[in-house]
Amino acid sequence: MIVAVASGKGGTGKTTVAASLCSVWDGPVTAVDLDVEEPNLHLFLKPEIQGSAKALLEVPRLDEELCDACGQCSDVCQFKAISLLGDVLLAFPEMCHGCGACLEVCPRGALSPNHRELGEVLWGRAGRDQFLMGRLRVGEAMSPPLMREVKKRLSRMTAGREGDVIIDCPPGVSCPAVNAVMDSDVILLVSEPTPFGLYDFALAWEAFGPMNKPMGAVINRAGLGDDKLAAFCREKGIPILAELPYSREVAQSYSNGMIVAQATPELGRAFGDLASATRRLYQEAGAKEAAHA
Ligand code: SF4
Ligand code: SF4
Repeated sequence: MIVAVASGKGGTGKTTVAASLCSVWDGPVTAVDLDVEEPNLHLFLKPEIQGSAKALLEVPRLDEELCDACGQCSDVCQFKAISLLGDVLLAFPEMCHGCGACLEVCPRGALSPNHRELGEVLWGRAGRDQFLMGRLRVGEAMSPPLMREVKKRLSRMTAGREGDVIIDCPPGVSCPAVNAVMDSDVILLVSEPTPFGLYDFALAWEAFGPMNKPMGAVINRAGLGDDKLAAFCREKGIPILAELPYSREVAQSYSNGMIVAQATPELGRAFGDLASATRRLYQEAGAKEAAHA
């Protein structure tokens, strides 16, 4: 089972939930930080990093001597990363998505492969668990290509192994967030019971809903705001898997870089219940699918 821990906005406690779930899960997991723009799962899980690799994207290099400004590369590039301006060809490697189409179509061999560094992929162990993360290079604008590299490494790390995967996803509903949840089996949407929390939760529910994956809500800092988020979940039929209290112990534990589930026995039980509810949600969805098949 691949569990995506997502949220409609940052600062909801998504990483706290992901780290805590890893710590109470009923067996070894592979913990993955796909929030490559701002990875911080490692701050809580404190893994021993055992390996790393630079992630590179293939981008075209232009040989102006060979180019006759035919414009075929510009026509095929969907991202305007190579554009014909009058009879001058301009390349913007930082906008390139690495699709390789321009290299394919150039009739004069004026384009050759070059590389842009995206960031790095790091892996290791956090106690009984495997750990994997991506870290975007400062100044790099595109995170999905690096996320693809993290996912490739994940496939290698989990090939032939038992055990579930818990992913700390990027916040929001833009391309990186959708990219992170799309391969998951179950989505946990973490939010807080405030007007902003509800607004972003609803956006995330709309963005991820069409994927038809089992989705459950985790209300963090319960008791802080109002009950409109819970009412929204009831109205839309989204199961509330946990309501985690807003407490001094949680805040202290978070600010000390500790796993919240380990702060008190009550919090440990609350996250243990969330882990069980997540597995049940997944199994029930599988049973429903089998019944309809
Ligand atoms: S590799 Fe693809 S995205 Fe990059 S410049 Fe060429 S056509 Fe555009
Ligand atoms: S396709 Fe090749 S020759 Fe034509 S404009 Fe592009 S780089 Fe120049």
